[in-house]
Amino acid sequence: MKSKAFKEILSLCLPYKGELMANFLLNVLNAVLSLFTFLSVVPFLYILFKVEGQRPSTASYSAWSKIESVLNDYIAQHGQVSALLLMCGVIVTLAFLKNASNYLALLRIAKVRTAISRDLRGALYEKVLRLSVAFYSNEKKGDLISRMTNDLMEIEFSVIGALEALLKAPIMLVFSLITLFVISWQLTLFALIFLPLSGWLISKIAKSLKNAAKRGKGSLGELIAMIEETLTGMKVIKVFNAEPHFADKFKDENQGYFKLMHRLYKREYLSSPMSEFISLCVISILLYVGGGIVINGNMSGALLIGYLVVFSQVIQPARALSEAIFKISKGAASLERVNEIMYAPESVQDQPDAQAMAAFEDSITFQNVSFAYQENTVLHQINFSIQKGETIALVGPSGSGKSTIASLLVRLMDPTAGEILIDGQPLSSLKLKSWREQVGVVTQDSILFNETIANNIALGSEEWDVERLHSAARSANAMEFIEQSPGSWEFNVGDGGSKLSGGQKQRLCIARAIYRNPPLLILDEATSALDTQSEQVVQNAIENMMQNRTSLVIAHRLSTVQRASRIIVLDQGKIVQMGTHEALMQEEGLYKTLVELQELP
Ligand code: ADP
Ligand code: MG
Repeated sequence: MKSKAFKEILSLCLPYKGELMANFLLNVLNAVLSLFTFLSVVPFLYILFKVEGQRPSTASYSAWSKIESVLNDYIAQHGQVSALLLMCGVIVTLAFLKNASNYLALLRIAKVRTAISRDLRGALYEKVLRLSVAFYSNEKKGDLISRMTNDLMEIEFSVIGALEALLKAPIMLVFSLITLFVISWQLTLFALIFLPLSGWLISKIAKSLKNAAKRGKGSLGELIAMIEETLTGMKVIKVFNAEPHFADKFKDENQGYFKLMHRLYKREYLSSPMSEFISLCVISILLYVGGGIVINGNMSGALLIGYLVVFSQVIQPARALSEAIFKISKGAASLERVNEIMYAPESVQDQPDAQAMAAFEDSITFQNVSFAYQENTVLHQINFSIQKGETIALVGPSGSGKSTIASLLVRLMDPTAGEILIDGQPLSSLKLKSWREQVGVVTQDSILFNETIANNIALGSEEWDVERLHSAARSANAMEFIEQSPGSWEFNVGDGGSKLSGGQKQRLCIARAIYRNPPLLILDEATSALDTQSEQVVQNAIENMMQNRTSLVIAHRLSTVQRASRIIVLDQGKIVQMGTHEALMQEEGLYKTLVELQELP
């Protein structure tokens, strides 16, 4: 994990190197101040030991012997008690400065950690908008949501939180170790023998933590997916008395998640007692070895206690460091999950030399187009063309591939084989945005957003033109119900348009397509949810709109496509017939059968 995850995190931090640098410098200041705070115990003890008439230490460190002589002079002049008071004053001052610098350092980090998770969330959302729709039919929605919320939070808490330790602990560690070496290199060498052992233990736990964390996150994704599905399908679950089934299914998932998380925490909680135990072992050894040195008269007792105090300060950053490694391992699992989205191939995207499309001039041609959802080929060798101004109808049994053709034409997906040509140019060589500006679509399922009616109709436009809004609504036969709804244009349609009826939703979608006023119109069963009366009105509106335009109309009610310039009959992903209504009625074929079936009383 390490090198790659570290690199990722570093690249996230890059924009904030100023803040991080400031944090680092403040940490250096903090480390120095901390050391002096802790070392101040030595003169303090020295003063006390003086009372018991201990002989002056034989320490050979020039710095310490200087302090010793200054202290001796001070005690000679003012007495021991006032020397004690002086030391306490020094400690309070040092402690204040040390904690002030620590707070200032944390302030820098506070900004960085939240900013990084903001950046990551923003980048992820933009990526999600760019991914092809094929990606979403492969992934579970709930799992995606879990990655974009939960895993991001985990990254903030663990990985970025660990940064805090990484920028601080090593400084403290290095300074303390240097001090320790200066005081007694023999003792310090003894202490360091334990380093490889703890390093090995840490890496072992870290690895198993990461694996457990990754499985835990995956399982949480499943759980959220199920909640999402349940909320969406609530009406059906209730009406079909399916609550027990869903409750059982959820119980299983939930229990599975519990087991994974239980295992994870068992490992995570092991890290802290384990490092504490190791450090206490090391301290005992130091007590034994260091005590021996003092007893032999090679070091003053005050200095050994000072040594131990500084050493106990090594333990804290060493632990912080090993815990940071655990945190990163746990966060790395989340980072991997987020990166699976971040680096998912954007199959539908502009080629580097893509050209902007000025206006649709001449024709659309499907040339040997085949398409497969994963392994399942649903379109086979489709060939047809649409001249500018024509209305082409696509008919066929459900599941024959009509909607898939519409999706290919707006380039929500790319064909697996063959090509779509626009005015003789491959669709894939055109700038996506410029092509989609030419197209208005009414999709089979009415897709509305939790916004006002006006915003839903003028979707994708920065500001709306009231005149156009009204005329689009009038053409879609939606004016009446819009004006009757509370708040009229400002009426919020609810989640997915849940506050509207099926027919109302569809009329808003039609109004949305009309509002764009595009040269090419794609209607995928645009009137399927309307009652006969509304359909008649909307049908007229659609026919008005289709004049002077090129359109591809998918309809299962065949009465609505009779006036099309050409009708393409699709069956199981293949074109089986093509021609005008009159010509197709002359043939014995699928079309005639379908028409006759619908004409039955
Ligand atoms: P139609 O619009 O003619 O009813 P579609 O184009 O929606 O048919 O679907 C054609 C075939 O593709 C169907 O057999 C359907 O099962 C399959 N299909 C549609 N969408 C997906 C998808 N997202 N993933 C896998 N298969 C799909
Ligand atoms: Mg369809």
